[in-house]
Amino acid sequence: MKKLKEITSFKEALLYQKLQDKKVRCNICQRRCIIENNQRGYCLTRLNQEGKLYTLIYSEVSSWAVSPIEKKPLYHFYPGSEWLSLGTLGCNFRCPGCQNWEIAHDEVELSHKKTETITPEQSVALAKSQNCQGISWTYNEPTVWFEYTLDGAKLAKENNLLTNYVTNGYITPEALEMIAPYLDAFRVDIKGFSKNSYQKMCHITDFKGILEITKRDKKKFRMWVEIVTNVTPGYNDDETQLKNIATWIKKDLGEDTPWHITRFIPHLDLSHIPATPISTLEKAREIGLKQGLLYVYLGNVFGHPSESTYCHRCKRLLIQRKGLYITDNKIEQGECTFCGAKIPGRFE
Ligand code: SF4
Repeated sequence: MKKLKEITSFKEALLYQKLQDKKVRCNICQRRCIIENNQRGYCLTRLNQEGKLYTLIYSEVSSWAVSPIEKKPLYHFYPGSEWLSLGTLGCNFRCPGCQNWEIAHDEVELSHKKTETITPEQSVALAKSQNCQGISWTYNEPTVWFEYTLDGAKLAKENNLLTNYVTNGYITPEALEMIAPYLDAFRVDIKGFSKNSYQKMCHITDFKGILEITKRDKKKFRMWVEIVTNVTPGYNDDETQLKNIATWIKKDLGEDTPWHITRFIPHLDLSHIPATPISTLEKAREIGLKQGLLYVYLGNVFGHPSESTYCHRCKRLLIQRKGLYITDNKIEQGECTFCGAKIPGRFE
């Protein structure tokens, strides 16, 4: 283990408790790791040294790009806008089929060979120089570099930029309370609706906290919320779970909350599982619509009609998409140009 002074980027963590024998408890995510002296938490990004907890990845960016909001995906939040997207290393889940495993499952080398330093101030300057509408913390779980995203989000708001978390929703209520005033949109994964699914995919047994956080985002903090479920054969593709997700979205978040049903593409430890059949995705969409959700999309199916937005009232095509790109947009001032229905979301 390197000495703290040899670590190139570190900062004392927020929201941790000192325990006996130089142990600490991290309260950033719902794992609430108890970390022994000279050890790291489950995400490998937080190190206890002599009873003080440090984040090892403050300002350490593994990936950045300017990309459309559709990539998150967020379809009802300033469609077509460009965002500075930032990711670091590590994750508090270790999903066996993770699409970004190269950074999310990384060992987080203390030498940070795989990262470049972009301070919160530099991220804001970069977003502005690239004419971005906002900053999105994405690619890997943003709560693992909570301190960085909090500072970045505060600065972004001071500079009239929007902000967005693309997250698994496993943040603690107290961390959410700190950052929520500075976040505009929350794109949350609901990976299943059973203890068994969450255990198999994310190695947690209690997923109810994720539901509570998501509800709080929308109802208490008034963020714009969209949900993603990556439908994976044998993990979360049964009718009961899909129906339960749709029912929960409608009941706790509202029928106007978009639900993105995305296609699983084989990766990593799930390379042996074939991509989700299109028929399964279409059936899941039907389930969502039948439960009363107004906007249910399919993702990772380039050119499918369900990538596009149709007015919930007159059913006319409003936003035509091809993958990440918009080819036509018939929403004006947040309304359907055909029937005048107010379209849920935030628009120009
Ligand atoms: S952020 Fe990391 S160290 Fe903290 S509780 Fe979550 S997994 Fe554990």
